[in-house]
Amino acid sequence: MLARLFRLHGLLVASHPWEVIVGTLAVTVCLMNMNSSSTSSQMCSWNNCPKVKEEAPSSDIIVLTITRCMAIIYIYFQFKNLLQLGSKYILGIAGLFTVFSSFVFSTVVIHFFGKELTGLNEALPFFLLLIDLSKACTLAKFALSSNSQEEVRENISKGMAILGPTFTLDALVECLVIGIGTMSGVPQLEIMCCFGCMSVLANYFVFMTFFPACVSLVLELSRESREGRPIWQMSHLANVLAEEEDNKPNPVTQRVKIIMSLGLALVHAHTRLTAEHSGRNRTAEGPVAERLESAGTVWPLKLTSMELEHVITLGLALLLAIKYVFFEQADTESSLSLRSPISGASLVQKPRAADSCCRRDQSAARKSSAGVLATGVASSAVSDVKPLPEADITCKGIFLFWEVPPRFNTLAPAGCGAEPRSLEECMAVLSDPQRGPEMLTDSEVINLVTARKILNYKLEALLETPERGVAIRREMLALKLPVSSALSGLPYKGYDYSKVMGACCENVIGYMPVPVGVAGPLLLDGQQFHVPMATTEGCLVASTNRGCRAVSLSGGCSSRILADSMTRGPVVRLPSACRAAEVKMWLETSDGFGMVKEAFDETSRFARLEKLLACVAGRNLYIRFQSQTGDAMGMNMLSKGTEQALSRLKQHFPDMEVLSVSGNYCTDKKSAAINWILGRGKSAVCEATIPAQVVREVLKSSTAALVDLNISKNLVGSAMAGSIGGFNAHAANIVSAIFIACGQDPAQTVGSSSCITQMEVAGPDGDDLYISCTMPSIELGTVGGGTNLPPQQACLQMLGVAGPNQPGENARQLARVVCATVLAGELSLMAALAAGHLVKSHMTHNRGDLSGSN
Ligand code: NAP
Repeated sequence: MLARLFRLHGLLVASHPWEVIVGTLAVTVCLMNMNSSSTSSQMCSWNNCPKVKEEAPSSDIIVLTITRCMAIIYIYFQFKNLLQLGSKYILGIAGLFTVFSSFVFSTVVIHFFGKELTGLNEALPFFLLLIDLSKACTLAKFALSSNSQEEVRENISKGMAILGPTFTLDALVECLVIGIGTMSGVPQLEIMCCFGCMSVLANYFVFMTFFPACVSLVLELSRESREGRPIWQMSHLANVLAEEEDNKPNPVTQRVKIIMSLGLALVHAHTRLTAEHSGRNRTAEGPVAERLESAGTVWPLKLTSMELEHVITLGLALLLAIKYVFFEQADTESSLSLRSPISGASLVQKPRAADSCCRRDQSAARKSSAGVLATGVASSAVSDVKPLPEADITCKGIFLFWEVPPRFNTLAPAGCGAEPRSLEECMAVLSDPQRGPEMLTDSEVINLVTARKILNYKLEALLETPERGVAIRREMLALKLPVSSALSGLPYKGYDYSKVMGACCENVIGYMPVPVGVAGPLLLDGQQFHVPMATTEGCLVASTNRGCRAVSLSGGCSSRILADSMTRGPVVRLPSACRAAEVKMWLETSDGFGMVKEAFDETSRFARLEKLLACVAGRNLYIRFQSQTGDAMGMNMLSKGTEQALSRLKQHFPDMEVLSVSGNYCTDKKSAAINWILGRGKSAVCEATIPAQVVREVLKSSTAALVDLNISKNLVGSAMAGSIGGFNAHAANIVSAIFIACGQDPAQTVGSSSCITQMEVAGPDGDDLYISCTMPSIELGTVGGGTNLPPQQACLQMLGVAGPNQPGENARQLARVVCATVLAGELSLMAALAAGHLVKSHMTHNRGDLSGSN
């Protein structure tokens, strides 16, 4: 209940940052006004309390000076903690405001209670120690773990729900503990404690309102503009503003104006009332000149009368301020990249210097990492916050005050103010094992690629993480595209590129997320399967699901594997057609086959040559090698075996010339009658009998209509079109969706979708439906290629066929599932066509947004 309340509060503050910030500022200005206009005679400013100063002995002065210095150093470290999060100014300003407002609020409230604050100045440094900016860090971490503005709000409210009760309790306990002092009976102590309580409350108030609003606002401003560039790039911000001026007024600006005017009106009203009031007092009290004198001449006097203790305190404050503003960046840079603010996991990763062009000194990085390890800024406290990828916490340029989370900032400006080093220098860094690519900035790496010192396609392998290689390739590519922000919608972070490199894709610039649906359960051979389907075609999964339901309600379907062997068909050339015929005949002898098989089988533990099919065309000889391939789809396996077999063949027929390891006689990824007739990969058949009632109630059709349509469309229609293997309604739809989900080679849907769908009347009354799908060339595997990628593995696991098993069992099972799902898909689509539902359901599922749901 309490957490919900705080969550709502957090959501409100994060959703209306302008309102909260301007409101808080207005209240503060009002309070200051009230304070300055009416309390000057009673209030004791920090360094202006002659009464106490006069009384203070010299030992006290030393103690007080040390306390002040400690307080300043403490505050400085609090700011440094904020800096670790990547915000140098915004959070700093928010923190500064917190400190400042604590004083204003506290003094005003005390004054309202009519308390005398004289004598408090010596205790003020202690109050500074009550201000804990680490709370800000913790809350900011929640916001920083977001990918979008909606998530920022959601995470701030989540953070509030988790941290709010603790903050509140802390504030309460602090108040109660300090409050004990108010009952001590010692007047000065009572006032001090009262002031302390107010400080804690003011602190609490600012952390609960102003601070989260600031964080939300900063991240909103950091959001990418429509063109994909981060809005915080000043030049771009100017463009955006100009663009918005040209168009309609920005509602955010309007909102801010209204709130600001309300706040300012409040300030004005209050100032005028106070001025009138003090004007009346002034005329009653004495001449205006006296006031002017006190305002204008007291300050220089105060400055000249500054004592050593003040000089020390002020000097220290100035020194730390200068260090913070001018010298903190590099240190932060190192520490930021060495550790994710939320997860400690990246502590073990190597630092990424790429974006952090300021970081060139590894020792500094190490030092900083040690510091981070030592301080360990409360990162473990927030357990359910998503870790920010290391690469996200980087310095991207001199304009960047705040590092923005992924999606907020996809394209970083090259360089970080410092000039890139020369190519020679960069190459030296690159080849130095002590330094390596992490000590190069992105712009330096880009220079090396442009000069071809690093090959573009080797970026992933050469850089310290493949993801950085991908990021740099994107950065370079973006400049060459018609729309430089084109890649911003293509994700690339958080992907395991190590499984892609050298196996699945080259010149990687990201990954393509495709929705995955599930159809099923599908009752196949007495076992239930939930079939993953990756597709962007609306209706497909829903329709297949309906087919699965019809099959399952009918007692399931049964399948068999008819053949299992992959093929590769090279082309060789001989001096003459007759010589080619001789070779063909030799290959058909057991000696010839045996010799070739021996060479072929040496290349794999699983591939075993089963058959050779040779055909002659002039002096060209085409040899179709056929072999089982275990659980692998087997194209690489076959290619490897074929190559070795051909070189053995060439030893026997030296006049033979190998034209290509693939002569299209395989046939791979092209429609071919040879696959349709002889099969390729797995040949499977699946059948089911659907009772008339299921046909009627689930498929909303009749057996007679379905049988008739199947003949007219799938058989005669395809024959009229001269189809090879296309005697089906939409086998390719199901095959491609399962292939994409399960990491198969999508191009092999060409041959794998070959299918003949047959329908007959069945049952004692002749109104049940018998359906079968025969698919002679399903080319798939459960090891190798894309099946090694984790999401694809997950889909294979859904079907219980991931990886190797009894060699070939998993792959064959997957082929059965494909065939059975095709059968389900055929049933459903044919029924929809027969009932005339196809167009209507496509309008519903494909154009849901446009036509509205009906
Ligand atoms: P592969 O990953 O190249 O080979 C399979 C590997 O897994 C082999 O090293 C094999 O061992 C091993 N393995 C372990 N357990 C196995 C088991 N139970 N069954 C079978 N193999 C097992 O996979 P591939 O299927 O041959 O080739 C697939 C790749 O080829 C895909 O990436 C596809 O895109 C690509 N492809 C290539 C061509 C081409 O013309 N070359 C054409 C189309 C597609 P062994 O070393 O002992 O065999």
